[in-house]
Amino acid sequence: MLDVHILPILDDNYAFVIRSNGVVGVIDPGESKPFIDFLDDKGWPLDMVINTHHHGDHTDGNTDLLDKYNAKWIAPKECGTADEVLTEGTPFVFGGTEFQIIHGSGHTKGHVCLYSAADKVLFSGDNLFAMGCGRLFEDTPAAMFEGLQKLKSLPDDVTVYFGHEYTASNAKFSAHILPDNKDIADRCETVLTQSCTIPTMMGVEKKTNPFLIADTAEKFTEYRAAKDNF
Ligand code: ZN
Ligand code: FE
Repeated sequence: MLDVHILPILDDNYAFVIRSNGVVGVIDPGESKPFIDFLDDKGWPLDMVINTHHHGDHTDGNTDLLDKYNAKWIAPKECGTADEVLTEGTPFVFGGTEFQIIHGSGHTKGHVCLYSAADKVLFSGDNLFAMGCGRLFEDTPAAMFEGLQKLKSLPDDVTVYFGHEYTASNAKFSAHILPDNKDIADRCETVLTQSCTIPTMMGVEKKTNPFLIADTAEKFTEYRAAKDNF
């Protein structure tokens, strides 16, 4: 059983402490202090620091945490020379939990999402947000579309932990680009009253996230460009 704790950090980032069979890890520590405080409070050691991609708001806490706890660094190869490299097709074993690595280029090259089929949990980093997706910095819209299609193939009852609280802005864009979609309109009523919308469910995203609703790379490209100018 995987235990997930959400830590809101920096301006609008979400990072995580996870625990499985006594093994403790952090995902995407964009700073170190909130993690040190949390772990001190629990009296937990730290075994692993895990990153989904190389951006500073997901990695700037790495060095402090790796040094202080003598932890192992787990990341895709684009982040540097990690102790264990996350690659699609090779499972990552974390305590009693096996994560499948889902590669999704676009936001950055080599961005990975971590998925546990047994726990029905996905850490989507900056690839998939509630009602949105990451900005394209390092690859083509087609590459991003392909990565999102893999996430879309996951079961509806998967809980999704994403990297940023951008939901209000994403919701407004979703209602703008798909004005006749009743599911989006209904969801907007709820999320626009909430300041914290994490986690979300894959089934809800499939119905209300324009970037998953887009069923061709062309549609996706059109929506992504529209969002950039929204
Ligand atoms: Zn990022
Ligand atoms: Fe980010």
